[in-house]
Amino acid sequence: MIMTKDKQTLLSKIPSVDELLQNPITQKWDGSYPHILILDAIRSILERKREAILRNNDLKEGSIALSPDDILSEVETELITLSKLNLHSLINATGIIIHTNLGRSLLSDAAIKNVQDVAGNYTNLEFDVWEGKRGKRYSHVEEVLCRLTGGEAATVVNNNAAAVMLVLNTLALGKEVIVSRGELIEIGGSFRIPDVMERSGARLREVGATNKTHLKDYRDAVNSDTAVLLKVHTSNYKILGFTEEVSLNDLVELGKERGIPVIQDLGSGCFVDLKRYGIDDESTVQDSLRSGVDIVTFSGDKLLGGPQGGIIIGKKSYLDRIRENPLARAVRIDKMTLAGLEVTLREYFDEEKAIRNIPTLRMLCQTLEEIEKRAGRIVEGLQDIINEEVLDIRIKDGVSQSGGGALPLSNLRTKVVAVIPKEIKVTEFEKGLRENNPPVIVRIKDEEILLDPRTILDKDIEIIIEAVRRIGSELK
Ligand SMILES: *Cc1c(COP(=O)(O)O)cnc(C)c1O
Repeated sequence: MIMTKDKQTLLSKIPSVDELLQNPITQKWDGSYPHILILDAIRSILERKREAILRNNDLKEGSIALSPDDILSEVETELITLSKLNLHSLINATGIIIHTNLGRSLLSDAAIKNVQDVAGNYTNLEFDVWEGKRGKRYSHVEEVLCRLTGGEAATVVNNNAAAVMLVLNTLALGKEVIVSRGELIEIGGSFRIPDVMERSGARLREVGATNKTHLKDYRDAVNSDTAVLLKVHTSNYKILGFTEEVSLNDLVELGKERGIPVIQDLGSGCFVDLKRYGIDDESTVQDSLRSGVDIVTFSGDKLLGGPQGGIIIGKKSYLDRIRENPLARAVRIDKMTLAGLEVTLREYFDEEKAIRNIPTLRMLCQTLEEIEKRAGRIVEGLQDIINEEVLDIRIKDGVSQSGGGALPLSNLRTKVVAVIPKEIKVTEFEKGLRENNPPVIVRIKDEEILLDPRTILDKDIEIIIEAVRRIGSELK
């Protein structure tokens, strides 16, 4: 690039980093912003100035602000951005309850309280207070898990992917694991059953066809190298039509007959019979264990509604081996997770309490009337900005989703608040909501913004009203 003389002159007018650091404005920031961020912000704004000068071949006098005051005002804006937390809360108005991108399940108030207590105090994490000697990290939840599910033994790891990996590594290292082709699923891009199996050191033995697998397929595949019969919940999809899968009961029978453990990766794992609440026919963890399966694994933060974790429940002889696997240490859970998980699990001693207190269950079991009432509150708060020509807002029928690979086909009927901007693009309105503080995340369908009260917390209704009102009033 040819450097014109004007550009040279402009470049020479950019103040130096040192000069800006000495400026009284910058001096006043010391104490409010860390020095390292001040320095980075100054450097990044100066770099932007340099680039702007070099890129632009049609520079007019004064078109790029170079005075220390102007530059420092931009630096301050940058500093505010740099000082914001990267991970922060937001409002989920999408109606997708276990939204993977938005952090899956929320903890109950009691669980949050316990996480806080355990995080800020010394605890008996690995100390037996009665005996005055070393205790076990996992003992805090094992008994509760067994009492709730009827399992013999239980342990918990970092997440369900780790649970599957650890179980297979313990029981099938260098040996074969038989799985139906219809269950070789991928979840959320990074978890694929075949890949996890391979990394666990087990060899995958696929049986059956994508749509049909018969008991005979498993039976024929069993050989002296078979270590595990694995059943995987297909989570985020269902094979419909001309299909057949082998029931857990039949697989357990075959396992017993041949002396091979049967493992079920339940994915979501639910303790409550959701049929009773008019939601899908999802079998529970208790159902699985009752059928005699040797081990089940599932997530802590899907339908269970707790913190991220991978729960392993089953026969004591296997659990003892799993706990002793050195990999268990590499995927162990931390004390804050245990604190949140124990309280979440204890809520299930009283099912009604669990549904009232655990946000995931509460959202799932919310009645249509309740949802409509909450939608009404939002529309009411926006009555005065509704304008046929500019911004229409009304309540419509809609569908929520459980998300998290749970209940893939259950369509949860809901009532949404549809916001229909007439003068600007719906995507622009959506961007406005997304850039709100806190951000409001919504769904767009047919040129309408849909706010689903099912996943909106009561405390956030006012914030949403304010955000829509602000963006809406800018349209007038
Ligand atoms: C979600 C899911 C997993 C992974 O669980 P994470 O807790 O996300 O690690 C594994 N298997 C199945 C069937 C799942 O649905």
